[in-house]
Amino acid sequence: MYDVAIIGGGPAGLQAALTLGRMHRRAVLLDGQRYRNATVRHMHNLIGSDGRDPAELRGAARRELARYETVDSRATEVIRIDGTVGSFSLTLVGGEIVEATRVILATGVADTLPDVPGLAPLFGTIAAHCPFCHGHEFAATAVALIGAGAHAPRLAAMLRPIATGVVVLAHGEAIDPDVARALERLDAVIRSERIVSVAPAPHGAEVALEGGGTVSVGGILTTTQWRQAAPFAEQLGLAMTPAGVIAVDAFGRTSVPGISAAGDAAVGPGLPGPMHAVALSIAAGLTAAASIVQDLVAAELANSSDGGSRSHAAG
Ligand SMILES: Cc1cc2nc3c(=O)[nH]c(=O)nc-3n(C[C@H](O)[C@H](O)[C@H](O)COP(=O)(O)OP(=O)(O)OC[C@H]3O[C@@H](n4cnc5c(N)ncnc54)[C@H](O)[C@@H]3O)c2cc1C
Repeated sequence: MYDVAIIGGGPAGLQAALTLGRMHRRAVLLDGQRYRNATVRHMHNLIGSDGRDPAELRGAARRELARYETVDSRATEVIRIDGTVGSFSLTLVGGEIVEATRVILATGVADTLPDVPGLAPLFGTIAAHCPFCHGHEFAATAVALIGAGAHAPRLAAMLRPIATGVVVLAHGEAIDPDVARALERLDAVIRSERIVSVAPAPHGAEVALEGGGTVSVGGILTTTQWRQAAPFAEQLGLAMTPAGVIAVDAFGRTSVPGISAAGDAAVGPGLPGPMHAVALSIAAGLTAAASIVQDLVAAELANSSDGGSRSHAAG
């Protein structure tokens, strides 16, 4: 029986495993190796690693983890979680059962891109979804935004100090007049035609529009629709936010005792919505793991008849 099973080997899960290893807790890291930023070669906005390949970061974290004897790492998929706090059973693909007293869901989210031919192969390099991660890289070029929903003016405003211009590609969708007016005030160009294709070009990307028009840009920011990458929130009936992420408290605890969540899959109180970033996932992994250590210690003290008074006397 492990103290903690961590599902997910991205930044949130790896950090949670490191924290538990450093506290000599028996933990198992179960990693399906499907990372949200798998196509990214240069991640940004992470001190000490700005521009680093995320695969390299994961590799370094795994090497660090190997030094901690109480942590096992396995490349495998979990398909089901049963049980209650103190006694969870995780069914792995293939049928094997792993048992743990607590579980951390660091399972991330998965993106679905707009149906634009040629976009998927560029996602993570010339095309991205987040200006904090991939905005500066498009500096001093025109940037295309795919999607003209209510979010578009905010995104265009964020890009204004970075890009030489913003072209909003509505891809055939009707634009709300208030959104259109806000974009015009920001000097953004609106193209309402459907996008026929996007393709890499020496300067960034070339966008072909219905009717024969083209738009040349240094980079593309696109909306994505994302969903939980794992079925456990639904399986366990966890409380969710309207945005579709697992609602956790400040310590990463979900609505089900013994189940914590960290990283892109979850959001804590006080935020209007999820904030997806490597640094925040690392912080959430650490918080969830440290909180579980405190929880285990509290349970151990409560279970030993005179443990509490002994520890006070010793302290
Ligand atoms: C194109 C793109 C570019 C990005 N660039 C940046 C950037 O530059 N800087 C930045 O800060 N952020 C960036 N991000 C966001 C960043 O990738 C995420 O915030 C971060 O990866 C979230 O970490 P995580 O550990 O929560 O999830 P992930 O890294 O997605 O890891 C999820 C883990 O859960 C595992 N998993 C899921 N289900 C199961 C299961 N059933 N069984 C076993 N394992 C399972 C997966 O295999 C994986 O190991 C980018 C995202 C995208 C899409």
